[in-house]
Amino acid sequence: MRDAAEPVGHLDLGIDLGLKSQIACSDDIIYSRENLTRTHATALAMAQRAHKKRRVKALQATMANIRKDWTHKATTAITRRGKLRVIGNVSSATLVKTPFATSTYDAAWGIVRRQLPYKARRLAGVCVDGNERCSSVTCSACGARSGPRGLSALGVRTWGGPCCGVMHERDVNAARNILAFRSGRATPSKGIPVLEGGEDVKRTSYALHHLPVAFYP
Ligand SMILES: [Zn+2]
Repeated sequence: MRDAAEPVGHLDLGIDLGLKSQIACSDDIIYSRENLTRTHATALAMAQRAHKKRRVKALQATMANIRKDWTHKATTAITRRGKLRVIGNVSSATLVKTPFATSTYDAAWGIVRRQLPYKARRLAGVCVDGNERCSSVTCSACGARSGPRGLSALGVRTWGGPCCGVMHERDVNAARNILAFRSGRATPSKGIPVLEGGEDVKRTSYALHHLPVAFYP
């Protein structure tokens, strides 16, 4: 049902899903919250050790509610700002088999993926999958693959200079590339693992050096 009281923007937005910042948009807006799993880890571990099942359930419900509420607010805001939302197809099913598992679960990309399309239908515009590959290492200003790579560069939030001198916030740069790849510019052939048939895709092996640089433990 369309909510006529809410204006809908006319932006084309690329959307990068990450771990440090859960959602970054190509128009410089980043949606970030605390890692709830990490915040509640001590209390949860104590309750589990004491076999307090009701306390454990209550903590899990609290985390789920905060996560859901936060995601609803973020996806509604994104939907109101854009008419086209291109969302990166990074695979959480693969990353949960790595040291990034906890952050990947907590980021709850699946909820974002479910909410954006139905909110697009409810308000206006469309939400489509975009190509995530190489979005983090490609300079969104000139297209050069000049960004920081590998695990040693995981903490780098901003970079730029070697190709064209433009400085980038890592996740916003990735979001811009996801949008640019959608329009046909320099679609890369190699990079990080992407969704194949949805979030249920199963992978049996995953080399650590293939981790996208946009992700953090
Ligand atoms: Zn450049």
